[in-house]
Amino acid sequence: MEIASLTIDQIREGLAARRFSALELATQALEFAQAANPKTNAYLHFCPERALAAARRVDAALARGDDPGALAGVPVAVKDVIVTKGVRTTCGSRLLAQYVPPYDATAVIRLEQAGGVILGKANCDEFAMGSSNENSAFGPVRNPVALDRVPGGSSGGSAAAVAQGAAVVALGSDTGGSVRQPASFCGVVGVTPTYGRVSRYGLVAFASSLDHIGQLGRTVRDAARLLQVVAGRDEMDSTSAFAPVPDYLALADGRVRGMKLGLPREYFKDLASETGDLIARGVDLLRRLGCEVREISLPHTPYAIACYYIICTAEASSNLARYDGMRYTTRSAGSETLSDMYRNTRGEGFGAECKRRIMLGAYVLSSGYYDAYYLKAQKVRTLIARDFSEAFREVDAIVTPVSPFPAFKLGEKLDDPLQMYLSDIYTITGDLAGIPCLSVPCGSTAAGLPVGMQILTRHFDEAGMFRLADAFQRAGGCAG
Ligand code: GLN
Repeated sequence: MEIASLTIDQIREGLAARRFSALELATQALEFAQAANPKTNAYLHFCPERALAAARRVDAALARGDDPGALAGVPVAVKDVIVTKGVRTTCGSRLLAQYVPPYDATAVIRLEQAGGVILGKANCDEFAMGSSNENSAFGPVRNPVALDRVPGGSSGGSAAAVAQGAAVVALGSDTGGSVRQPASFCGVVGVTPTYGRVSRYGLVAFASSLDHIGQLGRTVRDAARLLQVVAGRDEMDSTSAFAPVPDYLALADGRVRGMKLGLPREYFKDLASETGDLIARGVDLLRRLGCEVREISLPHTPYAIACYYIICTAEASSNLARYDGMRYTTRSAGSETLSDMYRNTRGEGFGAECKRRIMLGAYVLSSGYYDAYYLKAQKVRTLIARDFSEAFREVDAIVTPVSPFPAFKLGEKLDDPLQMYLSDIYTITGDLAGIPCLSVPCGSTAAGLPVGMQILTRHFDEAGMFRLADAFQRAGGCAG
């Protein structure tokens, strides 16, 4: 059994043919992931008891002749901003270092009901704020492809675990690119579904109107399978959508001939040259598969970063108010008064990036500035969403780079938050519009650094997105 390169199909076949049991697989996967972890710090902690119990349930179902589920025996990593009952959930923050949630996120319940085996919790930027995973209170993650480089963020641990073979698939969260950008940097597939497609119940809130639970895998099919299991209406999240969830794998039938693809000219201006070349090769491959490619315009793109960083900081400042040493979090010791206790707890507990965002967010929401910043940003958000709706009248999918450059060195952008924010330039628009988008590997630079290509489709058309990405990947995806 080649643990590091297993696919869900191989696991399914292996279990059915009784080549291995789910318990054997879980044991080996845990051993592999634990041994590999010191290299990358992808996992913050493992939950072996929970993993082995899940595997035993799968074996029992198989022994009874029952269907063990679509993810039977599949080793999964879960980003540590998604709550797990009885298993520590830190959000990469010192404040929650000891927090053990009393309930499971809906996505976690669903993936375990489908036979998934959660190995542990994946490292991430504190409260999912960051683009390099360097904002984790528990140390950065290293990119398994190049250990002196970042894995991207904020779902850097999830992407690194999948790239390293320490999980077959992973859950991440995406507010402004946090699944697609690390997927691109680590050479795996990263999916951000339509806003509302996956319940956010149990996803610790960063910016609620932008937060998504996303899926990572080494293949498009594996990521699609994971989405299939966790997607769909949930009574516990009133923003989760009623839209039926189609059979993504059945619809990924390779039929992409005649699909109309748009290349937005605003996304091809400031690319590192090798990234641009690889995306151009990717687009050529799509052409050879029979797609019609045309240039389009998404004219409000230049305002996206400013718009995003106003809305997300505003929502974050409100969402993070609950970490006050009273309702949640480890309390700072020895404060004289209540307000001192709040101040000390938050002052000692939050890292620099969270503090920066709380201050920015409180500022843009304050009376006198609300109209000038927050309200204006909401209007711009509508214009950005409208750009996409207009474009989708002409094309079936939009193809862009994921990041202007490949994985950068650890520490390289740490002192310059603006430079760091710029790495999200091509990913945040999809979140602002709430449409499905993914990153699919599209080859590597001469130095061996992976580059991802982004595909975006209409609201709830994940099936079209997977069909195109799967056809691309099966045709070689510009390997090398
Ligand atoms: N890098 C972006 C940020 O720092 C996106 C984060 C995310 O998607 N969670 O806000």
